[in-house]
Amino acid sequence: MLDLLGNLQRTHSCGSLREEHVGQTVVLMGWVARKRDFGVFTFIDLRDREGITQIVVSEDFAPEAHTKAKQARSEYVIAVKGEVVARSPETVNQKIPTGKIEVLAKEILILNDSKPLPFELEKVGSQNLASEELRLKYRYLDLRRPQLQRNLMMRAQAIKKIREYMDSLGFIEIETPILLKSTPEGARDFIVPSRIYRGKFFALPQSPQILKQICMIAGFDKYYQIARCFRDEDLRADRQPEFTQLDVEMSFVNQEMVYSVIEGVFRSVFRLIDVELPEKFPRMTYNEAIERFGTDKPDLRFSMELKDLTESFKTAENIASSPFASALQNGGMVKAITVKGKADYSRKQLDELQEFVKRYGASGLTWIKFLEETQSPLAKFFSPEKLTEFAEKAEAEKGDIVLIVAGKKSVVLPALGALRIEIAKRENLIDKNTYKPVLITEFPMFEYNEESGQYEPAHHPFTSPMDEDLEFFRRAVEKDERELLGKVRAKAYDAVINGYECAGGSIRIHQREIQELNFKAIGLSPEVAKERFGFFLEALEYGAPPHGGFAAGIERICMILCGTENIRDVMAFPKTSSTQDLMMDSPGKVDESQLDELGIRIISD
Ligand code: ASP
Repeated sequence: MLDLLGNLQRTHSCGSLREEHVGQTVVLMGWVARKRDFGVFTFIDLRDREGITQIVVSEDFAPEAHTKAKQARSEYVIAVKGEVVARSPETVNQKIPTGKIEVLAKEILILNDSKPLPFELEKVGSQNLASEELRLKYRYLDLRRPQLQRNLMMRAQAIKKIREYMDSLGFIEIETPILLKSTPEGARDFIVPSRIYRGKFFALPQSPQILKQICMIAGFDKYYQIARCFRDEDLRADRQPEFTQLDVEMSFVNQEMVYSVIEGVFRSVFRLIDVELPEKFPRMTYNEAIERFGTDKPDLRFSMELKDLTESFKTAENIASSPFASALQNGGMVKAITVKGKADYSRKQLDELQEFVKRYGASGLTWIKFLEETQSPLAKFFSPEKLTEFAEKAEAEKGDIVLIVAGKKSVVLPALGALRIEIAKRENLIDKNTYKPVLITEFPMFEYNEESGQYEPAHHPFTSPMDEDLEFFRRAVEKDERELLGKVRAKAYDAVINGYECAGGSIRIHQREIQELNFKAIGLSPEVAKERFGFFLEALEYGAPPHGGFAAGIERICMILCGTENIRDVMAFPKTSSTQDLMMDSPGKVDESQLDELGIRIISD
């Protein structure tokens, strides 16, 4: 028989009692995390989202409560009325904030029972993690784990801080609809069929991009929203089909003015974990980032920069017979990273690194061990003096190893960039307690898609070219000199912290003519542009102010704040990496009648 809650009220949470409460009668409610029976005494660790309090139940002192305690099992929901008592010094538990007290129960109510859990909560978080699949199916149980409770509370705090900060700067929060028309960010749309207009569809926003720009045209000046975005992207472990952004737009601004809002909002959020980010983040152009770090998301917590050896090799005697000959003849490059003090890497370690770069498309990896005498597979082609020269060019000192990749720029940079991170992880070069933000600027306006043969927007099609490149851009589109498009730089930027892209944005195009040119550049015919974005092109004709903004990924930020690399650890109800909700079993089927109403027929494969 279960007990009724009646009028009983909680007086404290399970994380709040301290020595100063000793002597008070309190009421706690929560879940039985652990129970230990010692004959006349039973101990219960009672848990709620705030923490754990030890309950002592004595058969002599409270026989009825003791009987209840004996009945209670793991994850039963109970209410305890009792007195706060100090623990004797030898039983104090330093590991929990309530560890100096316990509650001596006078009365216990069993409010609900629980089936034995499909996995042990206590074990989760240790090495014995139950499979993520099982934990996602029983998400409500996994969410009881203190770690996940803390993460979601941190997320709530972060969003609150963001709102406070944005409000303090005079931004207004405006909600934009979820049932929308396509707002492209480079992914597929999720679409929702309309019942009333058969054969027509809404699209869920990939971001509120167009609407926030329209808010600027409408004169709101400073907008923000904690916005849900939906992107039907190809599966990737750290992606979710829906996620949340702090979405921001401002009128009458240039890049620096947007940067100061990005800096301010990140500074205020990171104070939640007592981290003081710099007032001004370092700036680095996209080109500089990829040349120095092999990526536009550089992790600046350690150096190990990429060094260019192209010229040194090109001018070396014997290069023609070396393995780099063909790469260099085809306009490729030779780059290297130097790992300090690792000239003793074994054959096996080097083979592993070799395999690693191959995964990024590199044909292989070669090395120079900079010892008293250099050792290198390249010794067949170059003299020891020459190898020393290469190593010194890569800023190696005695005892270091230089790891070298040659080939096309589009392969060498990402491969070495990834190798740089891999080695930093293997060699523990990353100080987990440092936070290094950087603003990456001057992104290319377009990316060439080799498959479709089209230039695509590197950010989204509403991004403005840089003033310096505007004429160039105009010429490229008007005269159809398309290969020039690859050289146009955009007023686009990203904020990167510890190698994670945490925010991205741009100054927008605010003139119809340029917007139309941009649609043309990416291969949209005037008819298609009108059909998809006609309303927006028209809006640009009614006094659109210069404007720009950014969006910051809430999950990304929370992952850094919570110190987790798993995006699902900072979302209440995430989907699997194959886009399923295992708890609700969605996506699921719908009734035939619903499909009939929508005029939809399913064609099975
Ligand atoms: N809409 C962009 C995004 O979702 C951000 C922006 O340009 O403001 O990445």
